[in-house]
Amino acid sequence: NSKIHILNTSFDHISRSQLMAELDGRINNATKTFLVTANPEIVYYAEKNPTYQKIIDQADFVIADGYGVILASKIIRNPLPEKIPGFEVMCELLARGNSHGWSAYFLGAKRDVIEQAISNIKVNYPHLTIAGFHDGYFSDSSEIVKELEDTKPDLVFVALGFPKQEKWIHEQFSEMEKGLFIGVGGSFDVLAG
Ligand code: UDP
Repeated sequence: NSKIHILNTSFDHISRSQLMAELDGRINNATKTFLVTANPEIVYYAEKNPTYQKIIDQADFVIADGYGVILASKIIRNPLPEKIPGFEVMCELLARGNSHGWSAYFLGAKRDVIEQAISNIKVNYPHLTIAGFHDGYFSDSSEIVKELEDTKPDLVFVALGFPKQEKWIHEQFSEMEKGLFIGVGGSFDVLAG
């Protein structure tokens, strides 16, 4: 994919349908993937925090989460095709996972929120395998990492808010064999709705 830069963040020049097709292919080939859905706050924070910027730079895909990024791309006269909100990517992955029988792990949010989100996911995506889930308030990741290593899910949704979620994914990523890892912010609160 071609890239465009907004401040120091390099975005993939990709449409939503292209992105979903590429992700589908990578999941079916068990190609490990780190996807960042970046909004202006993330771009700005990364600019100020080189360690976080380095993490974003290592993602396989950086996509425009909201209209603010699209607007910035227009201002620099290199417009990105469309916004691709993280919440919508998650819902589309859940739907594809439901059709293909993928497995998914969910990390983040408060305990009652994640439990409610999981029960809603089971109703709405009955053929998706729930590899496991954990709330987002923990001090030691080792139990979660062990569960991921044991279950090797196709999809790993991490809802710890930025920058925590991308940092957490980065810390674990090299040890993982497969899976699409994506930080999804407050999405579980919406799913628990
Ligand atoms: N969260 C979490 N652990 C933390 C901090 C936040 O699980 O240590 C969860 C929080 O419960 C919420 C989600 O992260 O479900 C997103 O939080 P926020 O709305 O602050 O992040 P943003 O959407 O702005 O990235």
